[in-house]
Amino acid sequence: MAKYIVLLGPPGAGKGTQAKIIAEKHGLVHVSSGDLFRENLKGQTELGRKAQGFMNRGELVPDDITIDMVRDRLKREDCVKGALLDGFPRTPAQADALEEMLKDFNGKVDIVPYIAVPSEVLIERLGGRWTCRLNGHVFHEKFNPPKKAGICDYDGSELYQREDDKPATVANRIKVYFEQTAPLIEYYRSRGLLAEVDGTLPIEKVTEKLMAAIEKAQ
Ligand code: ADP
Ligand code: ADP
Repeated sequence: MAKYIVLLGPPGAGKGTQAKIIAEKHGLVHVSSGDLFRENLKGQTELGRKAQGFMNRGELVPDDITIDMVRDRLKREDCVKGALLDGFPRTPAQADALEEMLKDFNGKVDIVPYIAVPSEVLIERLGGRWTCRLNGHVFHEKFNPPKKAGICDYDGSELYQREDDKPATVANRIKVYFEQTAPLIEYYRSRGLLAEVDGTLPIEKVTEKLMAAIEKAQ
């Protein structure tokens, strides 16, 4: 049976950082809805054009567009054994749609690690985030600096600051998270799938706790 892990947490909690590490350790494909949207923006596709305004304002892209995009990604050959989902689902409607689509892929959500981080910390994290152009690796100018400023340690590509990591957009993204995504904490808790992890710990400690939660669920 295919295995699916959903990483839940506010913007800046460390989902992308941890997903890259854990996907490699578990041999799972990392599926980030934010990265998929950014690839479409870069490629100037129809999907990218539809998503752009929502992303720039720090709003969620409508459910139907997002669900179709993720379904198409999970259908691909490299996901036959499952995936590590980062940034999806972000609404209860997306969570319901995920449950349905995974039935077609011979799987289900196995565990939902929730990386808990308070708002004040998120603002500082997103303000100092530097993202790699090629593969979405993330660094932080203070908490996780690259070896060479402006260059990705893993693939040598250029690091940039995301447009939506500017303070005004960050504030809106956090508000949108509390209104639309935080209800998923109860959604998955009530299904016995939630594993809460303290996301304020150093990156390696968070990885340890996430790995322990994932192994326990197997
Ligand atoms: P998300 O994908 O949840 O939005 P990221 O993984 O992009 O979060 O992390 C946001 C920022 O915080 C990045 O700059 C990253 O380097 C930094 N970061 C991630 N985890 C930690 C941590 N445990 N402690 C300090 N900084 C962290
Ligand atoms: P973060 O790293 O801060 O958690 P993401 O990279 O996951 O942010 O997402 C960036 C933007 O892409 C979001 O602000 C939103 O506009 C859009 N997006 C990503 N995932 C979803 C989703 N599941 N539903 C709707 N919009 C999404």
